[in-house]
Amino acid sequence: MSDLKIQENIELKNFCTFAIGGPAKFFTVWKQHDEIVDILKWAKENHEQIFVFGGGSNLLFSDAGFNGLVIRNMTSQIELENRLLKVDSGLSWVRLFNFLKDKDVYGLEAFSGLPGSIGGAAYGNAGCHGTEMKDVLEKVEYVDTDTLEFHELEAKDIGFNYRHSEFKEYPERIITRVWFRLSDNPDDNTGDPHEFAEFRKAKQPQGLTTGSFFKNPEGDYAGRLIESSGMKGRKVGGIQTSDKHANFFLNDGTGTEQDVLELKDTIIQAVKEKEGIELEPEVQIIGSRLN
Ligand SMILES: Cc1cc2nc3c(=O)[nH]c(=O)nc-3n(C[C@H](O)[C@H](O)[C@H](O)COP(=O)(O)OP(=O)(O)OC[C@H]3O[C@@H](n4cnc5c(N)ncnc54)[C@H](O)[C@@H]3O)c2cc1C
Repeated sequence: MSDLKIQENIELKNFCTFAIGGPAKFFTVWKQHDEIVDILKWAKENHEQIFVFGGGSNLLFSDAGFNGLVIRNMTSQIELENRLLKVDSGLSWVRLFNFLKDKDVYGLEAFSGLPGSIGGAAYGNAGCHGTEMKDVLEKVEYVDTDTLEFHELEAKDIGFNYRHSEFKEYPERIITRVWFRLSDNPDDNTGDPHEFAEFRKAKQPQGLTTGSFFKNPEGDYAGRLIESSGMKGRKVGGIQTSDKHANFFLNDGTGTEQDVLELKDTIIQAVKEKEGIELEPEVQIIGSRLN
């Protein structure tokens, strides 16, 4: 068994972009691909439930923390061979683009500026500027937390949908690696990263946020619906919908899980009454149900 470092009583608010969340009973950083097996064995031997995350940019931890082992994925190996890019799931987009900057391969440009890890993006089928993970992924490897065995799945077998993958239905599967098939033809690029950076600067607020809180309903935008229901700028405790983009919840630094949940419910109710549409959160609410 590798030299695992398991910490106790670690504040989760320090590991997510919302800066919300109480203490994890146990906490560890997963750094090398195979190390996950030892981490899972430790959890089994100690009868602790687990929770895995990457960049913490699309989740809401509970104020009560997590009564088990929280695993922060910081695996980061990258290999490029014949335009097939193999990356560990904990790799951040920032590091990936840094690696690619002097390589003549194209296809992932749309994701420049996306916070978080590659594994988190695959889990939620993240999408940017018209390109989704399902469009660029070749296959994914996961480890089954029950059997501790590794398996591969082709992109077509992952049940990708708008902000959805089948990994959401199989919590025992942890994404360990991802493969992208890239192109050597510059015409296959998915856009201009500089334009995307300008777009984000112009349209999205800065601060403690998880990005879009709700999914866009088909044919419409959650931000437009929130605004038309009079909820733009609405505040509960330390959490407010942004004046710049109504679908972004901003934490002024004092916000709590309960503030977020109350604002969420108020908005769902208001939009339902005004527009007859029930908004659904995109953000993964980890919640006290696990405690
Ligand atoms: C400013 C801002 C802008 C954003 N813009 C966009 C955007 O344009 N498009 C978009 O789609 N999203 C956007 N997001 C949301 C978020 O960045 C993405 O959803 C991102 O892909 C989440 O990755 P993560 O590593 O941070 O996931 P985390 O928040 O760490 O985790 C999210 C969920 O994924 C699960 N998960 C993470 N890693 C794994 C793994 N290896 N195996 C199994 N499950 C895993 C976690 O358990 C959790 O349920 C934005 C967020 C912010 C803060």
